[in-house]
Amino acid sequence: MIVLLLGPPGSGKGTQGRRLSQRFHIPYLASGDLLRRAIEQDSLFGREVRQYIERGLYVPDKIMVPAAIEELNKLRREQGVRGAVLDGFPRTRDQAEALDSALTAEGTRVDRALLLNVPREVLIPRLAGRRVCRSCNASYHIDHKPPPADGRCEVCGGEVIQRVDDKPEMVDGRLTVYFERTLPLVAYYQQQGRLVQIDGNLSESDVTGSLVGAAEAVAAAAAQRAPAVASEGASRGAHA
Ligand SMILES: [Zn+2]
Repeated sequence: MIVLLLGPPGSGKGTQGRRLSQRFHIPYLASGDLLRRAIEQDSLFGREVRQYIERGLYVPDKIMVPAAIEELNKLRREQGVRGAVLDGFPRTRDQAEALDSALTAEGTRVDRALLLNVPREVLIPRLAGRRVCRSCNASYHIDHKPPPADGRCEVCGGEVIQRVDDKPEMVDGRLTVYFERTLPLVAYYQQQGRLVQIDGNLSESDVTGSLVGAAEAVAAAAAQRAPAVASEGASRGAHA
């Protein structure tokens, strides 16, 4: 089962993605982690990625698409897993189409795009109040989970900071960019009957419950398809 989590910054996508991954025993593949890892490893890809990130630019499709597909293939080769929870990729309609054609060649697909809907007026204070640990990425919020008074992370002792792009003056622009880029992607999955909209403005555990329900429906449908896997043609037919 491959599910894509869609949601604006501040929608809790990362937390929910990890929960889905644990629940269904499939890896959580976040494009942000993938890029950060590549930069740390200083691979050829990592060096290329760094040039964009340092300038505050999006990594172009021609670099991002093959890297994400390679990562999915690696998981399958090394861990024998055929599924994933995708977060942050595909980010545009072009990327979604490229991913679809690569996955079709493998006899698989993005089964569902799960969209977390959270109103903009809720997101702005969520993001602007967020603080994160510079070392372990643990997340805090000035209103409901304040960082320790000494400004040190309670998990690892690292420095707790406000990310530059969580500054109030940056948040509005980020949300505008998100909605502009994501709308065509949402439309793409919707046209194909692969979109599930989830109310993301509920408690964290209620959102998890809705997501798990949607993913269970996908898993059940995949299990029904499973007997046809032996015959490539039949399997593809079931995907169409
Ligand atoms: Zn920490």
